[in-house]
Amino acid sequence: MASPNPSILPYGMAALAEAARVVAAGGLVAVPTETVYGLAANATDGAAVARIYAAKGRPSFNPLIVHVPDLATAETLAGFDEEAHALATAFWPGPLTLVRPLRAGGPLSALVTAGLDTVALRVPRHRAMQSLLVHCGVPLAAPSANASGGISPTTAEHVAASLGAAALILDDGATPAGLESTIVAGRTILRPGPVTAAMLESVLGSVSRGAEHPAVITAPGQLASHYAPAKPLRLNAVGADADEWLIGYGPVGGDETLSATGDPLEAAANLFAALHRADAAASMRIAVAPIPMDGIGEAINDRLRRAAHP
Ligand code: AMP
Ligand code: MG
Repeated sequence: MASPNPSILPYGMAALAEAARVVAAGGLVAVPTETVYGLAANATDGAAVARIYAAKGRPSFNPLIVHVPDLATAETLAGFDEEAHALATAFWPGPLTLVRPLRAGGPLSALVTAGLDTVALRVPRHRAMQSLLVHCGVPLAAPSANASGGISPTTAEHVAASLGAAALILDDGATPAGLESTIVAGRTILRPGPVTAAMLESVLGSVSRGAEHPAVITAPGQLASHYAPAKPLRLNAVGADADEWLIGYGPVGGDETLSATGDPLEAAANLFAALHRADAAASMRIAVAPIPMDGIGEAINDRLRRAAHP
């Protein structure tokens, strides 16, 4: 049935063309997958990825899963060893996410991976997400399409109720109200899901279970899920002290700026690349200008606080 809400379009060629236009313009599209509705944006466009966090009202930056149409595309973004290749061949398209080492100099925004040198990749099976990927021709970052803390959406109406007009919604009915995808790094299950340990063992021989958000790296193959600079970092700096690399914002200039105009979306898009550059600079310490707490500023401040007090 046609919806009176113009931001909900029934799945079809017209909706896919409009969705591809929205993605190319840096906007957000909610799209069903075989798990739940995802909130998708161009993973190579930092400002578009920042809009995902802003729309969800997430108080922190978690690395996001990057969706691609096939293994060949995944291999252009990250390295696949023999075991990862075997898993992809066995379970893609499907609800399996593989954490793989990023290819250097690749196109993904650092905000997608939260500055890590690994990326979580998935080839989804659902026809709507598959067609959207093909129409867009870019990898799509997509967490669940609900406001932070809300329940995962399994219908277009859930998405509209949770996110309002923040996204164009591609309506292809209710998702098979599935579990979130299984996440695997090497032979370690970071998050259990529809692809079970027994299914993974049938390909790998043996697997181990790891924490989804390990506080510290306790064993090889267990990945810390956040990048933090190695140097000491000072918050709310309005000027640089001796031997500090100053990351500015708005009226506070610096060695570089997150956003000269004080645009929090631009600042979020630049954050991880700026931290990497500060880490690589000659100065021994890092300082960052004050960032207002409104909107996505909360997530920026959360990340900076953790970088300052690891
Ligand atoms: P969601 O998109 O909400 O299903 O959550 C994505 C999950 O993937 C989160 O638990 C992330 O911590 C995890 N994840 C994404 N990228 C990575 C990565 N590079 N290394 C480890 N975990 C990751
Ligand atoms: Mg979620």
